[in-house]
Amino acid sequence: MEPSKSFETLDPQDWDAMRALAHRMVDDAISYLQTVRERSVWQAIPEEVAARLVTPAPREPQGADAVYQEFTETILPYPMGNIHPRFWGWYMGNGTVFGALAEMMAATMNPNLGGGNHVANLVEEQVIGWMKDMLEFPKDASGLLVSGGSMANLVGLAVARNEKANFNVRAAGMQSAPQMLTVYASNEVHSSVQKAVELLGLGSEALRKIPVNADYMISLDALQQAIDADRAAGRHPICVVGCAGTINTGAVDDLNGLADLCAREGLWFHVDGAIGAVAVLAENLKPCLNGIERADSVALDLHKWLHMPFEAGCALVRSETAHRQAFSLTPEYLEHETRGVAAGHLWFSDYGLQLSRQFRALKVWMSIKEHGLDRFGRMIARNVEQAHYFGKLVENDPCLELLAPIGLDIVCFRFNPGGLDDEVLNALNKEILMQLHEQGIAVPTYTTLNDRYCLRIAIANHRSRQEDFDLLAREVVRIGKELSAQF
Ligand SMILES: *Cc1c(COP(=O)(O)O)cnc(C)c1O
Repeated sequence: MEPSKSFETLDPQDWDAMRALAHRMVDDAISYLQTVRERSVWQAIPEEVAARLVTPAPREPQGADAVYQEFTETILPYPMGNIHPRFWGWYMGNGTVFGALAEMMAATMNPNLGGGNHVANLVEEQVIGWMKDMLEFPKDASGLLVSGGSMANLVGLAVARNEKANFNVRAAGMQSAPQMLTVYASNEVHSSVQKAVELLGLGSEALRKIPVNADYMISLDALQQAIDADRAAGRHPICVVGCAGTINTGAVDDLNGLADLCAREGLWFHVDGAIGAVAVLAENLKPCLNGIERADSVALDLHKWLHMPFEAGCALVRSETAHRQAFSLTPEYLEHETRGVAAGHLWFSDYGLQLSRQFRALKVWMSIKEHGLDRFGRMIARNVEQAHYFGKLVENDPCLELLAPIGLDIVCFRFNPGGLDDEVLNALNKEILMQLHEQGIAVPTYTTLNDRYCLRIAIANHRSRQEDFDLLAREVVRIGKELSAQF
C-alpha cells in the first residue's frame, strides 16, 4: 500500500479552489447576460478559433481552471445569438438567467427521470399538470417532457398510429398493415411531423399535405375531399395534425373546425403547438387557439416562447391508457416496486422512448414559479404587438413590403424599392439578410412564399424593445439602397 497516494476520483482535489472557480463562473454568466445587448448579435468564428476545436481529446487532466479559461476564449464569445434582443431567426427562445441557474442545480442533483421514487418525478408530474391546466386538458390526461416539439410530435403521432391502426402495431409491425394508413396536415406543416410519419413506418407519401387558404390556414374543404378520396381508394385515414402557429407565417389552423371534422370522421386530432400553444397565456390571443383543448394530443415547446433553456418540450395525450400502451415495456430490471427507491406511482419511461431522462422539469418549475404564468403571457402578448408595430413600419415605408398576413409574432417582408422584378428582388433580399448577419445588426432568417424570397422575423424574444424594430427597418432600407445600385 502507498499511504501517501491520494484516492483518485472525479471530485475536486481542492474543494476550495473549485468553489472559487464556481463563483467566478456564476459571476461571468450573470455579466454575460446582463450585457448581451451591448454585443453584436452574431459574429463569424475566426479560423484559428475553429482550428482549436478539431484537436484530439487530452489523455491527461488539464485542470478545471485551464479548461474554463479556454472556454471563455474559444467558446463563450461566439454564441448563436438567440440570447440577444435582436435575434428573430427560425423560431427560438432567449432562455433566462434563473433558468440557467436551475439547469446547474438540476445537473447538481443529477437524478434520472426514467422512474423511481424520488422527488424529481413529482416535479415533472406537477409541471405536466400545469401544462394540462394551461390548455384545459382533463386532469387525468397524460404527458411527458421531451427535448422539444419534434419529439413531442413523434410521441403524439406514435400514440395516434397505434390507437387508430386497427391491428396490433407493436406486435405485428407496419409490414402487417392491411391498408395504407394516412395522416393529414396543411402544406405549411413543420418538417418534424413528416420525419415522425416517416420514422413511424407510414412513409412520407402517407402524409397528405393539404392546400392552405390565402391566410395560410388549412382548407377544411380540401381536407375533407382528401379524406373522402383516400377512403374511396381503400386507404385508412388515422390522424389530422393541426398547426397552432406555422413556422413560415405563424398561421393558426381552425382548430375547432378540425376537431369537429376529426370527431365526425373518427380520426385522431393532434396539434403541433410548438409555436402557438403557449399563447393561450395571453388573454387576447387565447381565442385564436380555441379548439386546442379538444385535441387527442398536443406538442408544445417550452424552449421557444416560454424561454426555458434548451431543451424543453412537452407532449400531452388525452388518454393516459393510449399513451401508456404505446410505450410501456417493463423488463425485470425495471420492475416498479411498492417500497424503496424503485417504487413510485409514475415511471416516465412508460410514456416515451427514453429510459434515462434528464431533470428538465426543474428549470420549468423554477422559472414558472419565479415569474408566474401571467408574466409569460404578457411577454407573448408584447411580441405579437411588436410584430404588428413592425408591420406598420413596413407598410409605411415605400421601400418595404409585407408578403404575408402577420400570424402571431411572425412577419414576412422584403425590401422592394419598385421597378425590380421578383428574381432580382430575391437575390437582393438574400444579400440584405447576409449583411444583417455579418454586420452583427440583427438576425432575421428567410422563407419563400409564392416564389418570393422573404425576410422573416419570429419575435419570440423577451429582450426586444420597440427601438430594435425601428433599427431593423432602418438598416434593411439602408443596406437595400446601398445594394440596389449593384442589382
Ligand atoms: C420548432 C418547431 C417544431 C420542432 O420543435 P423542436 O423543439 O425544434 O424540436 C415543430 N413544429 C413547429 C411549428 C416548430 O416551430
